[in-house]
Amino acid sequence: AATPKYLTGDSAGIKEFIDKFDTFLFDCDGVLWNGDHAYEGVPETIALLKSKGKRLVFVTNNSTKSREDYVKKLAKLNIPAEAEDVFGSSYSAAIYINRILKLPPGKNKVFAIGESGMEVELASEGIPFIGGTDASFRRDITPADFENIANGSMLDPEVGVVLCGLDFHINYLKIALGFHYVRRGAVFLATNADSTLPMHHDFFLGAGSCMIPLAYALGEQPTVLGKPSQAMMDAVEGKFQLDRAKTCMVGDRLNTDIKFGIEGKLGGTLHVLTGVHQKKDWDCEDAIAVPAFYADKLGDLLQGA
Ligand code: PLP
Ligand code: CA
Repeated sequence: AATPKYLTGDSAGIKEFIDKFDTFLFDCDGVLWNGDHAYEGVPETIALLKSKGKRLVFVTNNSTKSREDYVKKLAKLNIPAEAEDVFGSSYSAAIYINRILKLPPGKNKVFAIGESGMEVELASEGIPFIGGTDASFRRDITPADFENIANGSMLDPEVGVVLCGLDFHINYLKIALGFHYVRRGAVFLATNADSTLPMHHDFFLGAGSCMIPLAYALGEQPTVLGKPSQAMMDAVEGKFQLDRAKTCMVGDRLNTDIKFGIEGKLGGTLHVLTGVHQKKDWDCEDAIAVPAFYADKLGDLLQGA
């Protein structure tokens, strides 16, 4: 791949960059904010791009939050957005289940391993589900459970999908149920495969780390619906009528965001250095993905105003 073009400090280069695209897909955490604080110049940059008539879509792998949750978070950080401008991995999974898998009634229930954002997005597509935040799954497995899972009496015959996201109450019972549903023919899906997520200036286990025990036991990888999955890109394209050549993906992670844009054959990818990956992660022999552009931070685009 060609050497990425460095935008920070290059106002002519930034102008040219902005003019090249009509749509920007933004990763959120690590690009717009870190925890509860927006990076310097971010609301102003978003406002600048909007004033130039650009369409902005916020694409996040966070499966625990709904699109409405993100609208509230964006508003708190002075970034006006509507639910229609947000595309999350739980929503992506719900669209995939409803519009691509199209399982017949009676076999279309989802066994959800995840938080409330997953439940809200499944419900938004009218998909029946069990599991999720239901307290009856948040307990230790008992000897009777082992027996009743094995003989099937504890399994809902309508379950046709196991969807795994980040679940802060992951336990043996849920993994065992997921395992047995998939072994009996349910489709194995994951909202996203992020190994970690940044929190409190450190890292904690991401959705991928919740899914791995299940994948390991099954000897089968799930279909992943978050970045860099092209199922998500296809869903974004369908919803927003993207002209891929005039779309740029902005992100902080090479293995999710930048790969997502490159594999999706977008017109451009912009790597900002405020999040997980740094310049050294692509400026090496075994780079996972090399962006077309990079900048120290998103707010540097204001230099092209
Ligand atoms: N998953 C969870 C639960 C998160 O909290 C985050 C970041 O906040 C992510 C995934 C990664 O999200 P993004 O794709 O917006 O960086
Ligand atoms: Ca990110």
